[in-house]
Amino acid sequence: MKNAVGKKQLIELRHKLHKQPELSGNEEKTAETLIVFLKKQHPDLLVTAMGGHGILAVYKGETPGRTVLLRCDMDALPINEISKLEHRSTISGVSHKCGHDGHMAIMCGVASKLARNRPLHGTVLLLFQPAEETGQGAARIIEKLKYSPDQCFALHNLPGFQLGSVITKAGPFAEASKGLIVKLTGESSHAAEPQCGNSPAAAVASIILYLERISDNSTGTIATLVHARIGEVAFGTSPGDATVMITLRATHTKELDFFSHRVSEQIIKTAAEEHLMCNLSWAQEFPATINAELPNSFIRESANYLGYQMIPLTRPFLWSEDFGHFTDEFSGAMFGIGSGINAKPLHSRNYDFPDSLIPVGISMFIEILERSLKL
Ligand SMILES: [Zn+2]
Ligand SMILES: [Zn+2]
Repeated sequence: MKNAVGKKQLIELRHKLHKQPELSGNEEKTAETLIVFLKKQHPDLLVTAMGGHGILAVYKGETPGRTVLLRCDMDALPINEISKLEHRSTISGVSHKCGHDGHMAIMCGVASKLARNRPLHGTVLLLFQPAEETGQGAARIIEKLKYSPDQCFALHNLPGFQLGSVITKAGPFAEASKGLIVKLTGESSHAAEPQCGNSPAAAVASIILYLERISDNSTGTIATLVHARIGEVAFGTSPGDATVMITLRATHTKELDFFSHRVSEQIIKTAAEEHLMCNLSWAQEFPATINAELPNSFIRESANYLGYQMIPLTRPFLWSEDFGHFTDEFSGAMFGIGSGINAKPLHSRNYDFPDSLIPVGISMFIEILERSLKL
C-alpha cells in the first residue's frame, strides 16, 4: 500500500477548497472535490448528499467494536475576501473566513491515514457536514445518520491562541445561542403629521436600551442587537412598521430558554404599551456544546502524548457551534487548535487558515481514535 497523502497535497486541496467557497447549504462543488479525493481513500462506504451536500466516509475495523464519529464543517461565509493570496476566493462576496477549508483538509488527511491503516476494532465515521454557520446542518445530518456513535469529536481553529496549541474544557465548551426576529406594526402617516399614525420608533429605542441593560458579559448571558429597520427610506412618511433582530446567548441551553422567555415577555410588554402589533419568531438555534468527561480526557491525553501545548479553558466560549446538536445527542467533545496569538479573528476578511495546522489536526484525530476505539 502506498504512503498516506502528503502534507503538500493536503495543502493543495485546502487551497482548492478555499478558491471555490460556497455558502451554507450550497456546498455542491466543495462536495464534488471532496468525493473525488475520498474515493481514492477507499472507504468501506461513502454516503453522499446527506442532509444536503453532506458526506460520510466509513472505515470499518476487522472486528466489531465502538463507533466513533469525527466531524468537520464545509461552508464558507458571505464575506468578500480582499487578499493577495494565490489561493484567494474566486467567488465575489464569499470566502472561507472561519477556516472550514482547513477542517476539511484535516479530515481528508485522516481518511488517507485510515485507508492505509484501518482500525483494528470498531467503525470510524468521517463526517463532512454542510451548513454549520446557519446552525442547520448538524440537525439535518443527525436525522439522516444510520449510526449511533459511542463518541463524537470535532475541532475548530482558534485565532488568539498559540499556533498549534490544543484548547479544551470538560463541560460547557461553546455557548447556546439563537436569533430572535421582532416585527412591530403600528400605522404610517405623513411625516408632517406623525401624531396621526403610530410609529414604532420609540418602542425600538426602548428595546435596544433594554438589551444593553440585561446583557452580562461576566456570566455569558448576552443579548446583541444585530439588525434594526424602521419604516422605509422616505422623507415624507413617518414609519408604521419595524423589524429588530437580536442574537441571544447563554452558557446552557436551558438557561437560554429562560433568558429568551424573559426577553420576549419584555418586548411584548413594550409593544403593548406603545399599542403596536408584535410578532416574534426564532432562527438559527444552536444548543450549547457540552464536552463529556471521557471524550474530553481522550483529547487531553492525545495532546499530552503528542507534546502539544494544552490550554485549559476556565469558561466556555461565547460563540456557538452547531456541533452542540451532536453533544446533545451523543457523548462527545470539541477542541480548538490555536491559529496563532496574532492571527486575525475568525470571520474577519483577512483571516486565512494556517496550513501548518493540518498535520496537528490529523495527528490529534488519529490519537483520539486510538484511545476511543480501544476495547
Ligand atoms: Zn464561523
Ligand atoms: Zn467555524
